[in-house]
Amino acid sequence: MALKALDIYKMLPKKNCKECGYPTCLTFAMKLAAGKADADTCPYLDDATKQILRGATRPPIQLVKLGVGERSVPVGDEIVLFRHEKTFYHPPGILFSVSDLWEKERIVAAAERVMAEVFPRVGENLRFNGVAIRNESRNPEAFGKAVAAVEEVAEFPEVLISDSAEALASGLSFCGNYRPVIHAATLDNHEAVAPLAKRFGCPLVVRARDLGDLARLAKACTDLRVRDLILDPAPATLGEFLIRSTAIRKRAIDRSEPELGHPVYLDATACVPEEAAIVTGILKYAGVIVTSVLPPGTARMVLTLRQNIYTDPQKPIQMTPGLYRVGEPGPDSPVLATVNFSLTYFTLLGYLEASRIPCHLLIVDTEGFSVLTAVAAGKLSEKLIKESMERFQVAGQVKHRILIIPGYAAPLSGRIEEVTGWKVLVGPRDAADIGEFLEKEWVAKNQPAP
Ligand code: SF4
Repeated sequence: MALKALDIYKMLPKKNCKECGYPTCLTFAMKLAAGKADADTCPYLDDATKQILRGATRPPIQLVKLGVGERSVPVGDEIVLFRHEKTFYHPPGILFSVSDLWEKERIVAAAERVMAEVFPRVGENLRFNGVAIRNESRNPEAFGKAVAAVEEVAEFPEVLISDSAEALASGLSFCGNYRPVIHAATLDNHEAVAPLAKRFGCPLVVRARDLGDLARLAKACTDLRVRDLILDPAPATLGEFLIRSTAIRKRAIDRSEPELGHPVYLDATACVPEEAAIVTGILKYAGVIVTSVLPPGTARMVLTLRQNIYTDPQKPIQMTPGLYRVGEPGPDSPVLATVNFSLTYFTLLGYLEASRIPCHLLIVDTEGFSVLTAVAAGKLSEKLIKESMERFQVAGQVKHRILIIPGYAAPLSGRIEEVTGWKVLVGPRDAADIGEFLEKEWVAKNQPAP
């Protein structure tokens, strides 16, 4: 049963000595209750108390790492049912499915696409995470060859899909030290498949349609000392996935059925329509989603949705403050200042690029607030503009001393001139008008003005 922060606090030494890295015992208790701290870091707790706290404060959903190295993907370790309560932390790994019935070239092409394809969006590079190889031939040798074909180009997470322990062993023999996910242990085969997961140190998917069976299977595999588990509730329809995945998440979060405290697996190719299944999986708790090799438009939609759902709703997406170059600006090019709210930056950037007028773009740290909000909340000030101009050495980049600020920052213009000594031009309120503004106020007037 989960303990609340105050219950935990009562068990702590209350020395407030900070040795755990937190300023007070109460802060430490709150972190423990949220599953974000480890009882071992307080040196004054006895073993019995640590054990109670570990059991009651471990994350309700186990963290499982798919793959190893740079492209590895942590999934699970979520602590809420709804995104507005806190945030979702670990986006699902999305893997393209290939078959051991395919020609080698087709398998390699899918794997190469996953390796190479990147969709840049609001400062992040979005990509698919790996490949799931299906043993549709039911032939261990053919399965081994298909895994070997992926291994030739792969440095990303893989799922080996077969109900045959022999075929899985054949595939695993080509994976070296890599840790593919094994799919799946069932009530019928888990005694043969679970030892493979243990021997190769791989995460193991357990699969059953009934949630009671799924919990029993997870417990049986844990008892066989498999460390990392993923749950496949084997839905035949989208509705079944939604109902089962939600039930698993609820029971894991309220710890009423701790055996279900593992990430959830979704084979979206088994549901119709597949796109709706992928969307449901992203929204409703899947930790691993296997899809067909998606066309580019659908691929972009899926990755965009995942990015949106797995951003913290309480924190706007932010740009790193700095002085950015748009085109090839020179010493006579205009200097524009704006906030570090990503949407503002990318919208403005698009219109600046379309204007084909090279410029310097100063992004100041308003903690992700938009211009209007930042001005109203005092996050955008003449002091911040001055500090940012000095920090990013704006004066060294241009011969003139003219700064263009956003239209909504007009109330600051006088004060900015006072503290910086630069002349301020108030730009348009709408980024869409920036091209016309620069043409009229900069190019036509042959700025910089004397
Ligand atoms: S180390 Fe222990 S006693 Fe010290 S502040 Fe942290 S929880 Fe309190």
